[in-house]
Amino acid sequence: MVVDRQSRQAADADERGVRVARNRDALEALRERLGDCHRCPLGETRTALVFGVGDPGARLMLVGEAPGRNEDLRGDPFVGASGKLLDELLASIGIDRSLVYIANILKCRPPGNRDPQQVEIDECTPVLDEQIRIIAPQVIATLGNFATRHLLNTAEGISQLHGRLFETDERRIMPVYHPAAALYAPDKRQVLFGDFLNLGQVLRECAQGDGPGQP
Ligand code: URA
Repeated sequence: MVVDRQSRQAADADERGVRVARNRDALEALRERLGDCHRCPLGETRTALVFGVGDPGARLMLVGEAPGRNEDLRGDPFVGASGKLLDELLASIGIDRSLVYIANILKCRPPGNRDPQQVEIDECTPVLDEQIRIIAPQVIATLGNFATRHLLNTAEGISQLHGRLFETDERRIMPVYHPAAALYAPDKRQVLFGDFLNLGQVLRECAQGDGPGQP
């Protein structure tokens, strides 16, 4: 059957609308199930649980480490200085934050911004895994060591892995430095912008239907 371009675009938009609505409902249900989470001790010290934010039908998902002070107060990820740099990185490849989904390995702030502990990661990452299953992004950028280790199931560090592309049956994963690590290190900042250029190229390939994940 021959389908004209406009009909195809309208059908694609309808399909995306249905998927976004379904994903939004599923994410809301997951958030409700979490409730006033006390599965790990961070439930005692946090102000707000930072669930995640963005487009429920996003093709690109960004996974960071854990909320910092500003995120803990606001309840949204990456709203402080690292978030500002993240917005610049996205803008450098022509993407607005509203078009991606952003979440963290931990949903609650570790006191004093210390590293996440294994028991916290074990309790919290099933929620992140469920968010990824619901959204089914074509590409995930892991920001820093903790997200990279979890999503690639590796012990290797971000300095070895950043900027490399890893493919599973379902999606592509690109580790990059955490924006916080690049805030006051001009050399890392340059590397991070370079890795985002590659990320932009990967997204363009996916948009042309060349890669795993949904069309
Ligand atoms: N750093 C992170 O990893 N996540 C945030 O949400 C903020 C800072």
